[in-house]
Amino acid sequence: MNKLHRASVVAGASSLWIAMVVGNAAAFRLIQNTFVGRVTSGSAVACTDPGGFAHWANSNIAWSYNPASQGGKPGTAAALQSAMASWTNVPSANNVLSLTGTTTAGFATDGQNTIHWGTGEGCSGGCLALTALVLVAGQVIVEADVTMNDAFTWNTNGSDIDVQSVATHELGHTLGIHHTDKNGGVRRRPTMYASYFGIEARSLESDDMMAIQCSQSRYPPLATWGAPAPALAGSLEPLASGSDRVALSSRPRPGGGALIRFRLTTGGATRVELYDVAGREIETLIDGDRAAGEYELAWDGSSSSGPARSGIYFARITTPAGFARASVILTR
Ligand SMILES: [Zn+2]
Repeated sequence: MNKLHRASVVAGASSLWIAMVVGNAAAFRLIQNTFVGRVTSGSAVACTDPGGFAHWANSNIAWSYNPASQGGKPGTAAALQSAMASWTNVPSANNVLSLTGTTTAGFATDGQNTIHWGTGEGCSGGCLALTALVLVAGQVIVEADVTMNDAFTWNTNGSDIDVQSVATHELGHTLGIHHTDKNGGVRRRPTMYASYFGIEARSLESDDMMAIQCSQSRYPPLATWGAPAPALAGSLEPLASGSDRVALSSRPRPGGGALIRFRLTTGGATRVELYDVAGREIETLIDGDRAAGEYELAWDGSSSSGPARSGIYFARITTPAGFARASVILTR
């Protein structure tokens, strides 16, 4: 997925025609990969795909770069900062990418997000750069690394190969964005187009921006997703305990029912129960061990005493690390 090839792109009349037909239709794709661990590939899916896609749980993403090899060329830090700013500045998206400095780390799973110039790191031949994502359950990205193929000559003065263009493209992958289906001709070609096309890729097109906007509308920060739950009838327990380790929210499910999403920072015995407004337990959705990660449940409204009516319910999650509650609106 993430290999950038320097192959020339056919940009004749036929592709222009395709661009005109496609117009502003969303052509972006997201990276779907349910493997837990380090990945450098994934399926390209639409934002609405029922299987979901890779995404961050936090909005602030700090990066370092390794100044060894061509990472030590003048202008590298500024080029990387500009690439990060392009994604930070997308309107209606709250991700903030920042370059915090240099590192001696490489293209490896070590808990830090690193950009590294090297060879033999899974990217050779026509491959310009490669992104690796480290995923936990629920396709949550917890680390990303980028290797820039040091066998090419990298530049920051507008000559090929342009550091900022390729970094902007790879950073798109680190946000869970796959290659777009849109071509658009060189001037309007999205940065997430599969092949290198020079400094025109420094600036994001609307198709690129729509990708991260849609990703964040599907996976908004958990703490602000649902309205705070009112106190459960007959209960004095606080709304949440250990809320930095367990979070829960709910939203209506398109077409009926409700979606309940939760995140565990540490794994363990997990129970998710539903209550009615009178405080009676009506259904247990989960009762068992779960690994750290993010989970989304679809509740169709069935309960232990038959189909529940439309209205307000409560979900409660209980784990060894803490518990949380959220209101659930069931629509039919
Ligand atoms: Zn790519």
